[in-house]
Amino acid sequence: MSVFWNSRVRSLKPYLPGEQPRDRKFIKLNTNENPYPPSPRVTEAIARTAGADLRLYPDPASTALREAIAERTGVRPEQVFAGNGSDEVLAFVFAAFFENGGTAEPVLFPDITYSFYPVYARLWGVPFETVPLSAGFTLDLSAYRRPSGGVIFPNPNAPTGILHDPAELLLLARDLAARNRVLVVDEAYGVFAPGTGKAAFPLSGAASLLPYINEYPNILTVHTFSKAGSLAGLRAGFAAGSEPLIAALCRVRDSFNSYPLDALAAAGAEAAARDGEYYAETTARIIGTRERTVSALRDRGFEVLPSAANFMFIRRPGKSGAALFAGLRKRGILARHFNGPRTADFLRVSAGTDSDMDFFVQAITETLEET
Ligand code: PMP
Repeated sequence: MSVFWNSRVRSLKPYLPGEQPRDRKFIKLNTNENPYPPSPRVTEAIARTAGADLRLYPDPASTALREAIAERTGVRPEQVFAGNGSDEVLAFVFAAFFENGGTAEPVLFPDITYSFYPVYARLWGVPFETVPLSAGFTLDLSAYRRPSGGVIFPNPNAPTGILHDPAELLLLARDLAARNRVLVVDEAYGVFAPGTGKAAFPLSGAASLLPYINEYPNILTVHTFSKAGSLAGLRAGFAAGSEPLIAALCRVRDSFNSYPLDALAAAGAEAAARDGEYYAETTARIIGTRERTVSALRDRGFEVLPSAANFMFIRRPGKSGAALFAGLRKRGILARHFNGPRTADFLRVSAGTDSDMDFFVQAITETLEET
């Protein structure tokens, strides 16, 4: 606290990202990064762009990137908004679609979900209510069918990894449309869902609501290049929705920072968007590794929630999540532990390479013997 802080800064509860260690080499299974490098075309595109033209401001609308996304997903560029990572897109979403102030109806999201949502809500003064996941950690959509300021959740959800049936989400979208409210589906991990065809990589998945944005003017899908695109260090994300929704995000952007994507990030993300073949392969490999790891964990008495993402949410009856976290850390592996009332027993573990996960299974087996 400082006397120089205004009341808004005093009231913030900032998001705590997973640790990015600088001193010691860990196997990082704590931030759902991709264990494989990005497409070589990404590095080529960045190298081509890193020249004299950097003296110029970038295209504020990231037109070439949006055109590539539009081509690959079958929507129009005017239905795509590009941002500095999907976190920034989400921050703009809270400013653009959710009313603030004491008399506003609360925005709804699950009690166990991406922990940045309450942070954005507080930043913009948006009231919110959390809706408990079911005992099996699935979304209970009936609980969202009531007056609200709008609804947001990831599909698959994070940190559970559980995918919800898109057909049911469309029913909820219809219900919200009748109340002039927006449904925001954060599809950061959608590409890892079953049934995703080659064409989708690394942009959207088989269960994505992106194909429905023409029919449902109140659906906004949010996507990232950080996970399947292997570009967490680049900072590129996007949203897809009807033109009025995209126009709202542009109004917020242009009231905040007109150039959210630098020239290098826009060029790199565009090259990634155009290289579905490369990403189909790395994504398939990650899904294979995830399934192998799930079996190994279940064989060792772990409960693993059914994951459609590049991570697993796991617990071992009788062991605390904190003890498992500490045992892994001691052995050079970082996982993520969320110390909430319903999450304290769990660990979230990202899918690395096969050899990362062999090492992880060995380390967690040793940890079980020790605790
Ligand atoms: N949504 C969800 C559900 C996430 O887990 C993350 C990654 N922490 C993000 C959005 C943000 O990803 P990025 O800003 O790297 O695009």
